[in-house]
Amino acid sequence: MYKIKLYNTATRTVEPVETHEPGKLTFYTCGPTVYHYAHIGNLRTYIMEDVLEKLFTLAGYEVKRAMNITDVGHLTSDADTGADKMLEGARREGKTAMEIAEFYTKAFFDDCEKLNIKKPGIVVPATGCIDDFIKLISILFEKGYAYQAGGNVYFDTSKAKDYYRLTGHSADDLMVGVRDDVTEDSNKRNKSDFVLWFTESKFGEQELRWDSPWGYGYPGWHIECSAISLANLGEYLDIHAGGVDNIFPHHTNEIAQSEAALGHEWCGHWFHPRHLNDKSGKMSKSKGGILTVSVLEEKGYKPLAYRLFCLQSHYLKQLVFSYESLDNAESAYDKLLSRIANIKARADRENAAADPEKVNEYKERFIETVGDDLNTSMGLTLLYEVIKADMDDATKIGIIKVFDSVLSLDLLSGKAEEEEEAGDTAHLEELLLKRAEAKKNRDWATADAIRDEVKAAGYMIVDTPEGAKLKKL
Ligand code: AMP
Ligand code: ZN
Repeated sequence: MYKIKLYNTATRTVEPVETHEPGKLTFYTCGPTVYHYAHIGNLRTYIMEDVLEKLFTLAGYEVKRAMNITDVGHLTSDADTGADKMLEGARREGKTAMEIAEFYTKAFFDDCEKLNIKKPGIVVPATGCIDDFIKLISILFEKGYAYQAGGNVYFDTSKAKDYYRLTGHSADDLMVGVRDDVTEDSNKRNKSDFVLWFTESKFGEQELRWDSPWGYGYPGWHIECSAISLANLGEYLDIHAGGVDNIFPHHTNEIAQSEAALGHEWCGHWFHPRHLNDKSGKMSKSKGGILTVSVLEEKGYKPLAYRLFCLQSHYLKQLVFSYESLDNAESAYDKLLSRIANIKARADRENAAADPEKVNEYKERFIETVGDDLNTSMGLTLLYEVIKADMDDATKIGIIKVFDSVLSLDLLSGKAEEEEEAGDTAHLEELLLKRAEAKKNRDWATADAIRDEVKAAGYMIVDTPEGAKLKKL
């Protein structure tokens, strides 16, 4: 089985993904916080995760992937301060938190569909898993990692093994830049401790609350992902993914909780696509004026041109969004579709079968190329190589279909414009030959008449050193 190589935040190297069970991949993705639309930055992360899942599938792995929907507990700061984002959304729109969650969960999956992002096999809202959270927190109590103070339940990070290891920084480094106005929670034994279950919180109006052994309350954000992953994907996780902002504190806390409960290492590979920013800086849902897929559509862009824009660059590089670069991506996308449509039209006319050996050879090259740390831009280069190759059209189409199972750009959806033109221009090309003959015979009247006829058909004749050429008017 082909080993896919990927940068691992935990080891800071590109290394083969070793799955716990051969041929099977368990893959967890931090899902959206559904208090607002997903912006196209969020969706860059989901596009890259989607490509990763599809690449493993193409390479023959059986992929089991789970994702949460954060509909409770994610506070405006990723630490334990600020209001619950869901509550903020509910206040903003004068609705209940559950109405907000339902509306934006649907909007998220609608956007995913437009971008050909496959829905993970397992998708669970946090509010549907309260029992799993309570079970996990109880284990953390039994094992001495959890404590109660001021009514809340906290995780004691001083007991975690190498708590900061995912960040590659020390505690002191991470405190630099912490905002002065963030009030410290005096209930915490250590600054880095975090809430597992809130009961006494400063936002008593929190709508969603449940009974628990520690009082009526609601879960912290971090416990969601650990519990949902453990409940659905088992105690060994192969890949955990999320945007780069999730490394600290979210994923750092997930590792602490999960390993404390399990008593062994939990996840082998951490995948963190970098952010998409706009020219003014970070894109954020809370900033207002969110750039969404619908905004792009309203401006006349095809959502898949945005997918191509993302695939053109490496996921470990920050990407700056501008309409000029999206214009370039859209024009490349249109050309790509039309070139493939022409190949397809010829292949359909020839009615020949693809060469399975050649298709397989290219499939392997594609897996190896993109499987070298998710090098999607090299995957696109390979696609262009196939388009230009000296190869029969049916085989080209066979290969393109395989590539598209990962790129998901609807590569076969274009219209064969060139072919229609080729049909039209065949007769004009003949006229060009007649004109050349007329010019040779100094029959200027005929040459001019032909020029007019060609012009009437919508083309101009351009005389070049290689002879006369047609140019569309
Ligand atoms: P959220 O809905 O805020 O929980 O974020 C959903 C996903 O988007 C998470 O994996 C975040 O890490 C990721 N994310 C947040 N902002 C950006 C951004 N500007 N570019 C790319 N990914 C982002
Ligand atoms: Zn998460």
